Amino acid sequence: HAAPLTDADRALVDGVLARRLRPLAKTITLIESQREDHKARARQVLEALLPHTGGAMRVGISGVPGVGKSTFIEALGLYLIGQGMRVAVLAVDPSSSLTGGSILGDKTRMELLSQNPAAFIRPSPSAGSLGGVAEKTRETMLVCEAAGFDVIIVETVGVGQSETAVAGMTDIFCLLQLPNAGDDLQAIKKGIMELADLIVVNKADIDPMAATRAQAQMKTALHMLRPASPNWTVPVLTLSALQKQGIADFWKEVAGYRAALVKSGEFDAKRRHQALAWMWDLIDAGLRSRFRGHPRVKDELPSLARAVEAGATTPAAAAQRLLGHLG
Ligand code: GDP
Repeated sequence: HAAPLTDADRALVDGVLARRLRPLAKTITLIESQREDHKARARQVLEALLPHTGGAMRVGISGVPGVGKSTFIEALGLYLIGQGMRVAVLAVDPSSSLTGGSILGDKTRMELLSQNPAAFIRPSPSAGSLGGVAEKTRETMLVCEAAGFDVIIVETVGVGQSETAVAGMTDIFCLLQLPNAGDDLQAIKKGIMELADLIVVNKADIDPMAATRAQAQMKTALHMLRPASPNWTVPVLTLSALQKQGIADFWKEVAGYRAALVKSGEFDAKRRHQALAWMWDLIDAGLRSRFRGHPRVKDELPSLARAVEAGATTPAAAAQRLLGHLG
């Protein structure tokens, strides 16, 4: 069904599989492009890479600005590289397209990691909607897997639904928290704690007692939530990213999580479910854009919208009429 790859795209695929960084970066640029011809090429390149994906541990990291995500990811990345692994760090930051600057884009703080040849750091694509950013990050993740990275870290900051998007593309979603009371309640209110497979109280070096208190509070809070997995009890760890303390324990928990879910079959089931959910996301987005681009919809939408606002027609009747144009 797919046309054969052009020589240029075959070279990209071969370069990625040979774990070379330039073809990797070029492929990601192709994926992030808004041009229709680039999108078509990107789809073909991804199809060719797909059989070589799936081998990495996909780790989502979230937390408010200032909690220590960069510091933690640098410490974790260097630790994993020390264990012989290769690490890719990606980001989902839909705010970058709104503000022009990215909250997560400034990676100068991951200085050591970014200079390490076993690491690959890519800032968030600035492609408009959260859906667009998330889709491109998912595809970039697959390309990094084909390029043999052992761990893919996907970082996000707590804006809107970005945590849900990252939890939906990773194997384990980790929430970084500050060691002060009330912080945990914020996360519960926003429904983020429910997404977490692992909770980390960072900056435990500042006030170890406060960190232990926060840890106990969060454990209590977790008891009030319905567990996401029957095979896993969400642990709450305290650590210091700055002093690189607790990093090995963190990774031990990640490995334990993976082992528990692999054993029960939930690990593969989760990935299958994520792939299907991704397909439906793309179908929804495709239908929406086809609908909005349809000439008759474009013609009639403004007047029908006014009629709905004025109470001259029902929302249901207007929706029915517009959807009818899709045939
Ligand atoms: P991000 O916005 O979540 O990426 O947070 P950063 O990693 O940039 O950290 C914000 C600030 O907190 C920086 O000044 C870090 O040096 C500091 N920080 C991060 N982790 C720790 C920690 O474990 N202990 C202490 N004392 N400071 C930390």
